[in-house]
Amino acid sequence: MPEQSIDQLKSAFRGDLIQSSDADYESACKLYNGMIEKRPRLIARCVDVADVIAAVKFGNANGMLTAIRGGGHSGAGLGSCDDGLVIDVSRMKGIRVDPATKTVRVGAGCVWGDVDHATHAFGMATPCGFISTTGVAGLTLGGGIGYLTRKYGLTIDNLLSVDMVLADGSFVSASNKENPDLFWAVRGGGGNFGVVTSFEFRLHPVDTVQFGPTFWPLEESAMVLRAFRDFIKKASEEISGFFAYLVIPPAPMFPEHLHLKKVCGIVWCCTASAEQTEIALKPMQSLGHPLLHHVGPAPFPAVQSIFDGLFVPGLQWYWRADNFTELTDEAIAKHAEHGAKVPTMLSTMHLYPVNGAARRVSKNDTAYSFREALFAEVIVGVDPDPANTEKITKWCKDYWEALHPYSAGGAYTNFMMDEGQERIQASYRDNYQRLAAIKKKYDPKNFFRVNQNIRPAA
Ligand SMILES: Cc1cc2nc3c(=O)[nH]c(=O)nc-3n(C[C@H](O)[C@H](O)[C@H](O)COP(=O)(O)OP(=O)(O)OC[C@H]3O[C@@H](n4cnc5c(N)ncnc54)[C@H](O)[C@@H]3O)c2cc1C
Repeated sequence: MPEQSIDQLKSAFRGDLIQSSDADYESACKLYNGMIEKRPRLIARCVDVADVIAAVKFGNANGMLTAIRGGGHSGAGLGSCDDGLVIDVSRMKGIRVDPATKTVRVGAGCVWGDVDHATHAFGMATPCGFISTTGVAGLTLGGGIGYLTRKYGLTIDNLLSVDMVLADGSFVSASNKENPDLFWAVRGGGGNFGVVTSFEFRLHPVDTVQFGPTFWPLEESAMVLRAFRDFIKKASEEISGFFAYLVIPPAPMFPEHLHLKKVCGIVWCCTASAEQTEIALKPMQSLGHPLLHHVGPAPFPAVQSIFDGLFVPGLQWYWRADNFTELTDEAIAKHAEHGAKVPTMLSTMHLYPVNGAARRVSKNDTAYSFREALFAEVIVGVDPDPANTEKITKWCKDYWEALHPYSAGGAYTNFMMDEGQERIQASYRDNYQRLAAIKKKYDPKNFFRVNQNIRPAA
C-alpha cells in the first residue's frame, strides 16, 4: 500500500486508521463469529460521511478489496476481508427520534439496542431482530426478521430512506421518491450497492409486550410443531413467537430441575394486551405436558436484549437457513429427529414466522423475495470451544440437508454462510436479474463484493 496515499487519507480522515502495527489492530480485527479470522491491511473506522467518502475513494484508487462493517455480526464474516480495506462505520452512532412524524433517523453504526433505547423513551419501536447487539446496517439491508414481523413487517418494510456513499465516492439519498431503483435494491440486497451512512425508519406504538417461553419435553416436539404451524397461520398478527429446539441455560430465571435440559419451546412476544394474549395462547399452552409456561409483561428493549448475555461475541458459530412456505408432517418428523440432537448448550434451531404484515408486501416490491414464506428457518451451531467446531458444523449441515428438500429453495441471505452464487440467486429468484442491472448502474466494477454478492449484469 503506498504510504503517501495513507498520509493523504489521514489528512482527510477524522476517525481511526488502524494497521497491523497499531496496538488496537488485534481487537479491531475481531469478528462476532470466533470461527472466522480475517486480517485486513487497513481498518478505516469512520466517524462521519466525509470519512466514508475518503475511505471509498482510497480503496478505489488503490484497487483494494473492500469490506463494509456495521455491527460485525455477519455469520460468514462478511464485515471484513484479508489483505484489504475495511470501512468500519461502527462509530457513526447518532439517533434522532421525531415523535411528530413517528420516524427515527439512525446512524449506520448503531446496534439495535441503541435504537430500542432511543425509541422506547417515546413508547415506540421499529421492527428489528431478536438480539440487541446486532448491527442495524447489516440486518436492515438483508431484510430484518424479528419479534414484530407479523404485526409490522420486516425491518425493510419500515425503511423510509437511506443516505449512502456509492462506489465512486459520490453521496446519494434513496427513498421511494429519490433513486427509487436503488431504494428497491437496498431493501434486501445487502451491502452490494454502497456504504449506507444512515437509515430512516417508521416507528410504531410498541412499549410493553407480553413475553416469555413455553417449553415442552422433546418427545412432544412433533406434536407441538404441527400445532404451532396451524396456530400461527390463523393467529392474530399481535400474537407472535418463534419455535426452537434448545438446551435450557442454567440461568436463575429457570427452575433448577430444567437446567441444561434439551427441550422444544416457543418464545412468545405479543403486542396484544395481557388478557388477549392469555386467551390467544391457551390452545398452545394446553397442548401436551408443558414443562414451563411463563408469559408476562416486559419492556420491549428488555425483551430485545434478553439473549445478549448468552450469545456473546467470539463464539464459534456456524449456521444454515432456508425458507418454508409450508411445513409438512414429514418435514416436522425430520425436525424432531435432528432437533433432538442439539449438540451444545448454545446450539439451536429457530423457526421464525414471517407471515402476517411481511406477507402483504409483494415479492417484487423489494429485493427481499420470499414473501409467501410461512417460516424462515435457521439452524445454528454455537459453542465457545474451538475444539467443538466440527461437531457443531456437522450437526448443522446434517440437519439442514435433511430439511432442505422440503424448503422453498432459498434462504434469508443474512442467515447464510459463504455458500456461493447458486444459493444467492436461489434466494433472490426473479429479483436477481433486476438487482444485477441496478448493481451495474451503481457499482459496475463490483467494488463492493465482500458480501452475498450480486454480480453486475453483463
Ligand atoms: C447473534 C445474532 C443474532 C441475529 N439475529 C437476527 C435477527 O433476529 N433477525 C435478523 O434478521 N437477522 C439476525 N441476525 C443476522 C444479521 O442480520 C446478520 O448477521 C447481519 O449481517 C448483521 O449485520 P451487522 O451490521 O451486525 O454485520 P456486519 O458483519 O458488520 O455486516 C454484514 C454485512 O452487511 C453489510 N453492511 C454492514 N454495514 C453496512 C453499511 N453501513 N452499508 C452497507 N452495507 C453494510 C456488508 O455487506 C457486510 O458484509 C443475527 C446475527 C447474529 C450473529
